[in-house]
Amino acid sequence: MQTKLLINGELVAGQGEAHTVVDPATGEAITAIPEASQEQVSAAVTAADEAFQTYSKTTPAERAEILLNIADCLEQNQDELAELESLDVGKPWPSARDDEMPLTIDVFRFFAGAARTMTGSAAGEYVAGHTSMIRRDPVGPIASIAPWNYPLMMAAWKLAAPLAAGCSVVLKPSEITPLSTLRAAELLKDIVPKGVLNVIHGAGATIGDQLINAPKVEGISVTGSPATGMAAMRAASQKIRHVHLELGGKAPVIVFEDADLDAVAETIRYGSYFNAGQDCAQPCRVIAQKGIYEDLVARIEAQVSEIKIGAQKAEGTEMGPIVSNEQRTRIAAFVDRARGTCDVVTGGRAGDGAGYFYEPTLLANVDNNAEVATSEVFGPVVTVSPFQEAEDALRIANASDYGLASSVWTQNVGRAMQMSAEMRYGFTWVNTHGVGTPEMPWAAMKGSGTGCDMSVYALDAYTSIRHVMIAHG
Ligand code: NAD
Repeated sequence: MQTKLLINGELVAGQGEAHTVVDPATGEAITAIPEASQEQVSAAVTAADEAFQTYSKTTPAERAEILLNIADCLEQNQDELAELESLDVGKPWPSARDDEMPLTIDVFRFFAGAARTMTGSAAGEYVAGHTSMIRRDPVGPIASIAPWNYPLMMAAWKLAAPLAAGCSVVLKPSEITPLSTLRAAELLKDIVPKGVLNVIHGAGATIGDQLINAPKVEGISVTGSPATGMAAMRAASQKIRHVHLELGGKAPVIVFEDADLDAVAETIRYGSYFNAGQDCAQPCRVIAQKGIYEDLVARIEAQVSEIKIGAQKAEGTEMGPIVSNEQRTRIAAFVDRARGTCDVVTGGRAGDGAGYFYEPTLLANVDNNAEVATSEVFGPVVTVSPFQEAEDALRIANASDYGLASSVWTQNVGRAMQMSAEMRYGFTWVNTHGVGTPEMPWAAMKGSGTGCDMSVYALDAYTSIRHVMIAHG
């Protein structure tokens, strides 16, 4: 198992304290991986800074070739990478292999093309006798911080766009799920020029903090919790750096009386409990119109009570364990505090055995201001609440501190257009939820972050707009 860090093109053992990596389906240790020392974090940033001097001058075509080679290499090794991901996070094996790897790989292929589309706006004479040009240049070395829920896919989102833009990167995966990213670092060592990609391992509050505060870092890109986003903003304010944040979510699912209720119930089953609900876009807050409310709760219950929980490779497993015991305790506490104020329709209990299982849980008649309806649980818990009129649903949804994913379910096109225009969310699906593609932005508003991952707009976080003016005479 590859447990070394990648610093300046070399694989080196971490010199800091070791973190135990656990299989969440059994609670047993897989390995222990020493984190980076402070000197190693500094060395990684220095390497990124030095590599930036040459990498930032490569042509878009050269960078595109590197990104395509990364995609090919990940594709050739996708079984092994999916295996590590499934083991480390507790994902059902078919999900890790067939749902996540294709998108992880395709993101690099998309950004290979996107690298070649970057342009400033046209040149012209805006002052007599002077020609102005707009350039779009890479911002500098980037500190990229990734979470544990989709470790390799999130690493891909944190790498492909900056590499396309001409930035060097120091990437830190979550200390609890580093396996796939460390193996990818080894695979990519000779594909990406020395120092352009550095991968370190370590705790957020210490190693992550040192990384985002490193003087040579010009941009900070975080996918993680709002608390880590705030830490990034504080770090940026010490020096003034670019900050790109993809943080938590609490996705409302607004269901009107004319919606296809079976489609909603199936989407909840396959979307809300995917990855054991540990998903920033998880459809977790169903807001259903009064006339279909009871019917919808019954249909969702019928779907959810069929979900089979089990270990990664157990036959028929639809939902695996929660990533850690700490996270499971947090989820259980949310449900326990809500008990007595709402109906626990199904679930609401930890699973049996040593693994960190928690039953797929459906809570109905949840007050719209209740903690469980407004805070991100980040687990297999869905709430359902009723609403009367469209404006009520809009008000409830838009009152959220979060602004990432949302969906609206109706057969009325006019109402769908009106609702989606007014939703204060980075993305709104109509009659579906959770479908992503690299061409389209994974965009954040309000407390869910700034900017977006994926799409050509992701390049904005890693490029600076510059003006060059040439006097004619
Ligand atoms: P987290 O914020 O605890 O950790 C994310 C990363 O930040 C880890 O690598 C961690 O080590 C690091 N970190 C923590 N504190 C830090 C600090 N002070 N300085 C620097 N780095 C620090 O989040 P998590 O628990 O790993 O992931 C779950 C969160 O991520 C949820 O809120 C979820 O919604 C969010 N998420 C968002 C998206 C998105 O696209 N918007 C995608 C996936 C996950």
